[in-house]
Amino acid sequence: MTRIPVSDNFYLDEFIDPWTYYLYGSKSLRYIAPQTIAFTQRVREILEVPCTINNWSNHGKMSAKEFLLQPRWKQNRSFKESGLRVFDKALYNKKLKARGMKGDALIKKVVGGTTSQHKFGRASDIKQNAFTSKDVHDIIEDYRRELMELGLTTLEHHEATRSWVHMDGRTTNLNDKLLIVRP
Ligand SMILES: [Zn+2]
Repeated sequence: MTRIPVSDNFYLDEFIDPWTYYLYGSKSLRYIAPQTIAFTQRVREILEVPCTINNWSNHGKMSAKEFLLQPRWKQNRSFKESGLRVFDKALYNKKLKARGMKGDALIKKVVGGTTSQHKFGRASDIKQNAFTSKDVHDIIEDYRRELMELGLTTLEHHEATRSWVHMDGRTTNLNDKLLIVRP
């Protein structure tokens, strides 16, 4: 599929779940906060290593439709809910069915909490192989001012997210301090 670049290192499909991408295509952009793209890109630049958010499109080799037509066990081998997550499963399944999708192409369960910042397009989970989660948190603290200006406000505690780093841009009343939460 033709991919849509949204920053120097990332494409739109990396921030969007495959169901939203299937239903809305390039218009999925409207559901991801610009701050999420901005702070994720800046963290990627600071780390200077490849970072994965979603990889369901396999570098654009697979369309959302092709992805969803695979058996669920195959779908589950890819990251697909590390950026935007579906907010209303029932509504989405109705829309998917209206477009002829059935079985494993429908949404069984959306990962994470019901009011997760991912559902508001304000969060990303990044994975990379060069640093521990704690290292990344320390590096983010070093660049806190700059990253907060781009809209980053919150991290999930590294002990709870050992194989990824959760960043989000929820509104907080902390001006000069990142909020650290336990998921
Ligand atoms: Zn997350």
